[in-house]
Amino acid sequence: MSTAILDTPVPTHTISLEEETNPWQAQAARFDLAARKLSLDPGVWKVLRYPSRELIVHIPVAMDDGSIEVFTGYRVQHSIARGPAKGGIRYSPDVSLDEVRALASWMTWKCAVVNIPFGGAKGGVICDPKTMSQGELERMTRRYTAELMEFIGPEKDVPAPDMGTNEQTMAWIMDTYSMHMRQTVTSVVTGKPVNIGGSRGRREATGRGIAVVCDQALKHFDLPVKGCRVIVQGFGNVGSNAAKILFDKGYTILGIAEYDGAVANQNGLDINALLLHRQKAGTINGFAGGDAVDKAELLTWNCEILIPAATENVITSQNAGSLNCRILCEGANGPTTIVADDILEAKGVFVIPDILANAGGVTTSYFEWVQDRMGYFWTEAEVNQRLERIMMDSFEDVLSYAKSHAVNNRIAAYMLAIDRVAYTTKQRGIYA
Ligand code: GLU
Repeated sequence: MSTAILDTPVPTHTISLEEETNPWQAQAARFDLAARKLSLDPGVWKVLRYPSRELIVHIPVAMDDGSIEVFTGYRVQHSIARGPAKGGIRYSPDVSLDEVRALASWMTWKCAVVNIPFGGAKGGVICDPKTMSQGELERMTRRYTAELMEFIGPEKDVPAPDMGTNEQTMAWIMDTYSMHMRQTVTSVVTGKPVNIGGSRGRREATGRGIAVVCDQALKHFDLPVKGCRVIVQGFGNVGSNAAKILFDKGYTILGIAEYDGAVANQNGLDINALLLHRQKAGTINGFAGGDAVDKAELLTWNCEILIPAATENVITSQNAGSLNCRILCEGANGPTTIVADDILEAKGVFVIPDILANAGGVTTSYFEWVQDRMGYFWTEAEVNQRLERIMMDSFEDVLSYAKSHAVNNRIAAYMLAIDRVAYTTKQRGIYA
């Protein structure tokens, strides 16, 4: 591998929209920027820039109608320098190897930002879970797990939920792995149901972590919670829990944007009522406590905090200039492109980067893994208290890194993470 690539800055102003929205390039561009600022050793640079292992599996599944379908799945392990690889599994028609690669690297940086003893990994299967039966999903999950048998494990690589997967998916993975091992191994996955080794508070953890860093950002700017207007894009596990926890804390949830519509209320939405409505109607649309608004336009409304909490590439060169938020808190992984980063920086938007803002999920996954290995389970209050401490400390770490190195929050978070992983990589040395 040539080092020439390492000396070439990414020309963000000339890249096409396709390049701009490639998650792997987005990750690599930030990594290069931060590594350059750190004057990272060129050898370590090469080690950390690329994933250490990429698995592609073709998963045959007997469908309900008697036909056989073959799904393509991935598991990318970016780093095991600081501990077992860790990261979710995504089921979506849009999954690609480049996306899984990027998400795996982000897991390495995220775990390092919050200083938990894990590396980074991610999995994905190209499928549309919305159109599949429970039986089909179960058979696909079990076969995917069986294909990965020798590569996952409590000390090797520990999956978790992500988009399109949930506690039930984790229960199937845990059971399949356990059947092969001839014993129950709860710590092979996190994000499980509480009665089979899941952690209390894990379901809400990403949203809770987001609420903690929002509180810290308000303190940083000396702004009150009362009257603080929040817009959330995405109302899945992350967005709905973030909105609910912020609503309960007294924030004004101005609007929620979903993939199929958006609702808003200038006086604030009642998130508990909206959750009930969604449970009954299957969508946020038609909610009586707000008005239907344009989902793309909602992101440009005046607010204190905008929380993209769905997928990548929501804030791009196409809309970053129109945003009117003071704080951008990234609940999703990779919601902002590198071109948008520059635009937001010029506008003075305070960004709480994904690898910090949404790290509450994996932090509580760490607690789940610890509890499974101890066989001793904590109360929800204990979990939340530990989570809050880590999120608050990490927020401070990133901000002080930004200040001392005169960089924005995103590059500070990458620098902090890369520095930690690089240190361990050098300490362990290269096995030959
Ligand atoms: N999928 C989540 C994330 O992107 C959680 C990962 C985990 O808990 O391992 O952070």
